[in-house]
Amino acid sequence: MTTPAEEQKFDFIRELIANDLTAKNLPQGVVTRFPPEPNGYLHIGHAKSICLNFGVAQEFDGRCHLRFDDTNPSKEDDEYVESIKKDIAWLGWDWGEHLHFASDYFETLYQYAVTLIGQGKAYVDDLTQEEIRAGRGTLTSPGEESPYRGRSVAENLDLFGKMRAGEFSEGARVLRAKIDMTSGNLNMRDPVLYRIVDAPHHRTGTEWRIYPMYDFGHGQSDSIEGITHSLCTMEFEDHRPLYDWVLDSLGLYHPQQIEFARLNISYTILSKRKLLQLVQDGHVSGWDDPRMPTISGLRRRGYPPEAIRNFCDKIGIAKRPNTVELALLEHSARDYLNQHASRVLGVLRPLKVIIDNYPEGQSEELEGINNPESPEAGTRMVPFSGELYIEQDDFMEDPPSKYNRLAPGREVRLRYGYFITCINADKDPVTGEVTAIHCAYDPETRGGQSPDGRKVRGTIHWVSAAHSLPAVVRLYETLFSEEHPDDADDFLTVLNEDSLKVITGCQVEASLKDASPGDNFQFERLGYFCMDEVDSKPGALVFNRTVPLRDTWSR
Ligand code: ATP
Ligand code: MG
Repeated sequence: MTTPAEEQKFDFIRELIANDLTAKNLPQGVVTRFPPEPNGYLHIGHAKSICLNFGVAQEFDGRCHLRFDDTNPSKEDDEYVESIKKDIAWLGWDWGEHLHFASDYFETLYQYAVTLIGQGKAYVDDLTQEEIRAGRGTLTSPGEESPYRGRSVAENLDLFGKMRAGEFSEGARVLRAKIDMTSGNLNMRDPVLYRIVDAPHHRTGTEWRIYPMYDFGHGQSDSIEGITHSLCTMEFEDHRPLYDWVLDSLGLYHPQQIEFARLNISYTILSKRKLLQLVQDGHVSGWDDPRMPTISGLRRRGYPPEAIRNFCDKIGIAKRPNTVELALLEHSARDYLNQHASRVLGVLRPLKVIIDNYPEGQSEELEGINNPESPEAGTRMVPFSGELYIEQDDFMEDPPSKYNRLAPGREVRLRYGYFITCINADKDPVTGEVTAIHCAYDPETRGGQSPDGRKVRGTIHWVSAAHSLPAVVRLYETLFSEEHPDDADDFLTVLNEDSLKVITGCQVEASLKDASPGDNFQFERLGYFCMDEVDSKPGALVFNRTVPLRDTWSR
């Protein structure tokens, strides 16, 4: 991995951990965990948490667990488990032996709940979900105690056992902690610990009828695994007293929960629920649609894992919420790909160029530099002949004076190749549309220099008509037209209708026949592109534009 990991990272979490390592007895070293719920694909926000948890463990010579928080069977699926594992490994992180599932602890968690009941700190409540919600009170008014709060330990134990045995239907009863209905913290007003769910679990099948709530399962799972620092996002700050209360009540090993700000990105939605809706309603082609902010979408778009990790390093870790510019993510891709992507020539909207003075039937090979940023990338041979394609917009019949490209009587340089001068254009007699242009080349300018020191104003890209390969190219814009799509009443109303443009009839240079799906290229002057992992086939190449180039060498 070539992330600048050696650069010392510094933030309040790393500072706190460094202090704990000297002040506390942590014989096992630092142990963190990344705890996704397998109810969707990972997105770039998760990458922030992954890079923090795995990064901290690596820097402090500790370890990071991957723990699936699979406590809600109605929304979870193995497809998600597999995609999450694949994405984390692709980002370059390794959980080693420590792949865990909250469902591995269901029996232990159940026994913890029994212990709490025995202590008189939990009770079975027959109120409905709505009644419980209504009885919780508000920030300014206290909650009301449930009429079932006074049940005896014996009765609670009996009812909880029956909940487990499947004697009650979903929603009929819950287990609640008995804390304080007047607490200023709503999470402490007798929160629900267990509920009945009538859905098969992706790992335990129909063995369990009751499932722990996040607030009960999470801290106890952290404790079982010996997590030292449980890093989570700010919305759990108000849950920390409950996290602490349960662990302290049970007298268990007590990890430290620390909160940090979620990642938000402009023009982007990072809510699994909303992303799922985009997939289910067909607004995108799937979780891996290249417009999606998912790891699988970014991968298919052409983002290298290093670019994502560099981005996560750059944004840093803090408590204050903020929105990062999408441009920063794109910059990370450009920055990495500039160093690592081979340059190639491809024409998106071809215009035929006939070189009138080039010997008929002849062709030759010109040497192209694969990456000026990295000489070790070497060179390749690019076929040249008397019939080429250039971009339609690199020719104008009647150009303004500032136009530096081809026009009748004007001379330009072909990348790696000759100077050509435009003579005239062929037109469709009916529409008047230019169908081809005729040029003359200067054989003395091979390699792009003229022996008489003559200058040209522009350099354009091209491919040889007979040698190039047909391709489809997809250009993207942001998926949302608003900078803060979450602010809209309905985020679907701010979808950008122009987020995908499919360009057929493109022509790309011959060397791309050896490329593999997932390979990154810079199409000179057009941006960075990735051969599509799903749709590209030999003979029917498909490229996704990862990001445009900000600067082009032709200006
Ligand atoms: P849900 O609403 O389903 O809980 P979630 O995005 O929190 O969605 P989880 O699978 O619970 O999904 O997330 C796993 C971890 O990733 C959590 O620790 C969470 O704090 C972290 N995480 C999720 N979204 C972001 C984000 N935008 N920025 C940073 N961390 C995030
Ligand atoms: Mg969550």
